[in-house]
Amino acid sequence: MICPKCKSKYEKEFTVCSKCKSQLVHKLPKQIISKKKYRFKKRLHPSKYLNDLDEWGKHQYNPGYWTGGNIPPDLKYGGKPIGVILLLLGVFSLILSGSSLFESDIKHLTDILEIIPNLTLGGLIGIIMILAGISKLKNTDR
Ligand SMILES: [Zn+2]
Repeated sequence: MICPKCKSKYEKEFTVCSKCKSQLVHKLPKQIISKKKYRFKKRLHPSKYLNDLDEWGKHQYNPGYWTGGNIPPDLKYGGKPIGVILLLLGVFSLILSGSSLFESDIKHLTDILEIIPNLTLGGLIGIIMILAGISKLKNTDR
């Protein structure tokens, strides 16, 4: 027998708890387990990689997302060598776009306007690659 209040154990003969005078029971009633409310604001994948992939899928056409330091998950989780390659490619891309400014024969104002798209695109890609490379080198563990 067992007391439901103080959890004291007694022999079969006893019916009342000597300490708290409460009726003894054979078994303690099962504790009512309060059902936890599983409410998720956002459904998350168990894998960080899949979360990133999902997140990336939503923002891949948003240049602001790229420049905000976010990189495609395939690059992020690709391993350290990719980080080095990305850094080198990024620097190379920046040098190329920069050199196009000096190599071009600027005579009129309109000549500059023609280079700007190449310059900004090359520069943007270069910066993205460098950021991705740095980020990759920082997170060596998956
Ligand atoms: Zn008791």
